[in-house]
Amino acid sequence: MEALSFERQHIWHPYSAMSAPSPVHLVDKAEGIWLHLENGGKMIDAMSSWWCAAYGHAPETLVAALKSQADRMPHVMFGGLTHQPAITLTRKLVALLPHGLDRVFYSDSGSVAVEVAVKMAVQAQIAAGHPARTQIATARGGYHGDTWKAMSLCDPETGMHSHFGRAVSAQHFVPTPPLVFDDEWLDEPKQNGLAEVEALFARHGADIAAFIIEPVVQGAGGMRFYHPAYLRGLRALCDHHGILLIFDEIATGFGRTGAAFTMDHASVRPDILCLGKALTGGIMSFAATIATADVAERIGQGNPAALMHGPTFMANPLACAVAGAALDLWRSRDWSAEARRIGVQLRAELASAATYPTVADIRVLGAIGVIEMKDPLPMDRVHAFCASEGVWLRPFGRLLYAMPPFITQPEDVSRITAAMLAIARGL
Ligand SMILES: *Cc1c(COP(=O)(O)O)cnc(C)c1O
Repeated sequence: MEALSFERQHIWHPYSAMSAPSPVHLVDKAEGIWLHLENGGKMIDAMSSWWCAAYGHAPETLVAALKSQADRMPHVMFGGLTHQPAITLTRKLVALLPHGLDRVFYSDSGSVAVEVAVKMAVQAQIAAGHPARTQIATARGGYHGDTWKAMSLCDPETGMHSHFGRAVSAQHFVPTPPLVFDDEWLDEPKQNGLAEVEALFARHGADIAAFIIEPVVQGAGGMRFYHPAYLRGLRALCDHHGILLIFDEIATGFGRTGAAFTMDHASVRPDILCLGKALTGGIMSFAATIATADVAERIGQGNPAALMHGPTFMANPLACAVAGAALDLWRSRDWSAEARRIGVQLRAELASAATYPTVADIRVLGAIGVIEMKDPLPMDRVHAFCASEGVWLRPFGRLLYAMPPFITQPEDVSRITAAMLAIARGL
């Protein structure tokens, strides 16, 4: 097709080579759980378009909010100006979050939200009289985005460190939390992974501003679910060593794991929280970094007494209006229960893959189902198979996974699991 051959020559896709572009499907319309293709075919979006379309594509009230805001004021700068969509959104967001997380910075993507979180932490530490505390610690197996600082905090092996040499700044890594979600918690620090955190803090604590981690679910860094009690131990160690704790809930916020936020599994509150992806119900690129009053006040005592970040499209009114409508939609129904319902079915239907010689592990948490293969999957064959089966899956490496929209009904969940099993058996 002419459009596709033009695009192969001119348009980059995520992690793609212009010299040898991978195949792409041309999508014409996205509605509910469906991606409608230009060639007349359709696929269930089992990826929720990378975690975003949690309530399905194009929910009516979100599209209406976007249109009505577009008629009034698509954008104004946020320096020296403000607007109702930002104020209304912030009221709703603060009401939803754990008490104390209520100083909100809006940006345009998850990676930037992580950059802002790191800036907040470093500025707060320097302002509090700890100029040496400029380094960041994290666990292996994580993913925090593709900008420079965020990239440096991703898992050093599955991330992009090796592709950029010394241009990626060095960070402190502890091993991936060893106990998984379904394990019994072990109090012995040598067994639960906290001994390594303790050792790191004992050696380098005075240089560390913050520890950043995805609570419970490590997403694009390896799709692992670790034990929530790790977060309680981590919180205590951070407090003891004066290190700020940053939670990255960009992928998991808003019900995905069967709780409103993954931090709820552990009842632990961070000092700084990053949200994105489903924040706008998947309609627009938008993110938020939310700090405690303590962090904000410390920054206010610094020189400069200001948080030094300010994107051009900060708090874009269209995005704020859509996110406000998405929070109304979030509150209108028990979406976490829908995620748990999908999870029960994913667990039952994926279980048979455990006997396949090709499969290394199967894990499910909320509406996230993962089949870890022994060998990398043949991406091009999977890509073609998805269109023929009407189920959109986008594995990476050895990981075949689905996180369908919460509105996905049982017969469609079964179509997703059937496609996953077929791929796992070998195409
Ligand atoms: C997707 C993601 C990011 C980056 O968000 P972008 O909007 O792609 O920049 C950061 N952290 C986590 C956990 C993510 O899943």
